[in-house]
Amino acid sequence: MTEPKITQLQPMPDDWQRALAVVAHPDDLEYGCSAAIASWTDAGREIGYVLATRGEAGMDTLEPANCGPLREREQRASAAVVGVSSVEFLDHRDGVIEYGPALRRDIAAAIRRHRPELVITLNHRDTWGGVAWNTPDHVAVGRATLDAAGDAGNRWIFPELGGQGLEPWNGVRWVAVAGSSTPTHAVDATPGLERAVRSLLEHRTYIEALTDEDPTKGRMTVEEYARDFLTRNAQAVADRFGGRPAVAFEVFGR
Ligand SMILES: [Zn+2]
Repeated sequence: MTEPKITQLQPMPDDWQRALAVVAHPDDLEYGCSAAIASWTDAGREIGYVLATRGEAGMDTLEPANCGPLREREQRASAAVVGVSSVEFLDHRDGVIEYGPALRRDIAAAIRRHRPELVITLNHRDTWGGVAWNTPDHVAVGRATLDAAGDAGNRWIFPELGGQGLEPWNGVRWVAVAGSSTPTHAVDATPGLERAVRSLLEHRTYIEALTDEDPTKGRMTVEEYARDFLTRNAQAVADRFGGRPAVAFEVFGR
């Protein structure tokens, strides 16, 4: 009997200079793809982060008014570890982000400000694969980001943006979705993995709260948890990327 053939992922396009990552919450990029971000900033590429919320509803033990500023600080620190200094928040409400024109407009405005060739977001599908249900915020922001890549280039969809001096930007060539269960492309995770672990660890208060709540993770230190999570995820892609641990993306060309 022959081995079933494993479809190999393509290397990510690398003929670009600017990328913008748009996600719902602090930590989405650190759980999702910051090893790839670290490799890209090493190569001299400019990457900005845009977060729809401050993740203020993320900790059971801390009320949103105190949680939001803490998670914002953790997010800025974790971005700095992988060479990202531009971190913006769109001030949608954590947990109840609504997909619709207001969200698309805010993301289109960010795309016009940054003028990226590559846009990165997190899984916009209902599940992570199988029966692992995704959250409504990720679905809303992922979908709106895929849509806003086109909206940003159209003068007439959100004409008020032109009035704010934000000229149309039709230069987005790809939207790369991290955390997709049907990836098409990948980036070698090895050069950026150590910084990805440190970047995730900057969300220390949040991760400590999370691991305290989950008895299966309680025996690990925060460091062990972060390293274990990211290493396992990268290793899970290796079979489809020539044996190399990798960060996978589903790439939508435009
Ligand atoms: Zn999230």
